Amino acid sequence: MNRYVIALDQGTTSSRAIVFDASGKIVALSQHEFPQIYPQPGWVEHDPMSILYTQMGSLSEAFRSSGLSAGEIAAIGITNQRETTIVWEKDTGRPVYNAIVWQCRRTAPLCEELREQGWEEKIREKTGLVLDAYFSGTKLRWILDNVPGVRERAERGELLFGTVDCWLIWNLTGGKAHVTDYSNASRTMLFNINTMDWDEELCQALRIPMCMLPRAVSNCEEYGKLSSRIMGLEELAGIPICGAAGDQQAALLGQGCIHPGEAKNTYGTGCFTMMNTGEKRPESKHGLLSCVAWKIGEHVNYCLEGSVFNAGSTVQWMRDELHLVQNAAETQALAESVPDNGGVYLVSAFTGLGAPYWDMYARGTVVGITRGTTRAHVVRAGLEGIAYQVKDLIDAMEQDALAPMQILRVDGGASVNRFLMQFQADILRCPIDRPAMVETTALGAAFLAGLHAGVWKDVGDIARIRESAAIFRPKMDAARAEEYCRRWHRAVERARNWE
Ligand code: ADP
Repeated sequence: MNRYVIALDQGTTSSRAIVFDASGKIVALSQHEFPQIYPQPGWVEHDPMSILYTQMGSLSEAFRSSGLSAGEIAAIGITNQRETTIVWEKDTGRPVYNAIVWQCRRTAPLCEELREQGWEEKIREKTGLVLDAYFSGTKLRWILDNVPGVRERAERGELLFGTVDCWLIWNLTGGKAHVTDYSNASRTMLFNINTMDWDEELCQALRIPMCMLPRAVSNCEEYGKLSSRIMGLEELAGIPICGAAGDQQAALLGQGCIHPGEAKNTYGTGCFTMMNTGEKRPESKHGLLSCVAWKIGEHVNYCLEGSVFNAGSTVQWMRDELHLVQNAAETQALAESVPDNGGVYLVSAFTGLGAPYWDMYARGTVVGITRGTTRAHVVRAGLEGIAYQVKDLIDAMEQDALAPMQILRVDGGASVNRFLMQFQADILRCPIDRPAMVETTALGAAFLAGLHAGVWKDVGDIARIRESAAIFRPKMDAARAEEYCRRWHRAVERARNWE
């Protein structure tokens, strides 16, 4: 009895609930999409009530389809789209404005202003982040400045701020708990990751009344119990909500990356790479983000994060624009049909290059074409280009973390590509491990909650319940891999500073 955990996975396009058993296997899953709101070019919003209702709906459905009784559910954990910002009334729970989504660029001019005022270095030092519209701080400031009456009401203590984790916990506990976990807090640009507390100076600079901020709490403790007043969820009342983490951090844990030097990469439209750096806060000299991965018990665990802007989108481009393949899966056989890239390099800098280059003016290029170049060479170069960009990012991470990467655990749509994974292992010179269960984000959240509830006993358990489906080890000769990387960097030089 009491051995199951439900993870709520509140993403950018859908809300999902997954019931896990104690071996980390999925017992039931439910998912509901909700509308994206685009009020102007570059602006993205969600209705906080649709976030909440789709999440409650999927929780109720997943529970019902699991066939379990409420007494068998030990705990609920939460993982969420990060940085998305919500302000609501303390008395009624009514949002004062739509949620401003992480992708929304409306506060870019405000970030420019802060840069001109010289805040960039201080923000990096205190929060581990780069000064960008991506994070919650300037989004909250926008709501305070632009929604009539909100600033006055916030100053009077009538309004609350929260990211999506906080919004869900507040609602699910019937307004009892106004808390956010450290991993989510570390993405607000208001949170000092050295002192592990809200930063007064930054709140002043951004004119944020500190009384509206939630209490920052660890990732594995009881935040409250599911309220009995939630329609449709009465049966589950009293189940503790006792674990939460932002999506990428939850995936890091769900991939069992619990030791320094262990990293995960998600191969989606872009790549999200995260490396565990242990109990010491990393300093990045390459524009990577330093964040709190989690705090469990007394131990704060930090991580480094970076992304490749265009990964799976390169495959989509080859399919939809160049018509080199009919579907993404075909790229594997085509790439494997030639012994090498035939000297072709494809740099998919469609929107510039991120870490370690940070060149917004770079654009895509294909070099090394001869009369003998075939469709297979180009497709292979496209896949290889994804792997090279991940390697460049991970090289930067290793330098910042002052630790070599031990293993790269992978997930995301393009991680099913055997050629891509083998080539990645060949040039990274380290093993790549693809798990049997790809719902790593939800598993991470379930694990945090189950750890507190006693379903699992320590973080080592997650590494034990995670199963590898495939391990790719470097096969290519090291000198050859090095030569390929050298040529790749020459190709990158040709893509840079173009626009
Ligand atoms: P996102 O969450 O960003 O939408 P997913 O994790 O669902 O991304 O992955 C989808 C991406 O993976 C697409 O860009 C697609 O082109 C790519 N992809 C899917 N299958 C393959 C494959 N077999 N080989 C290479 N890329 C693939």
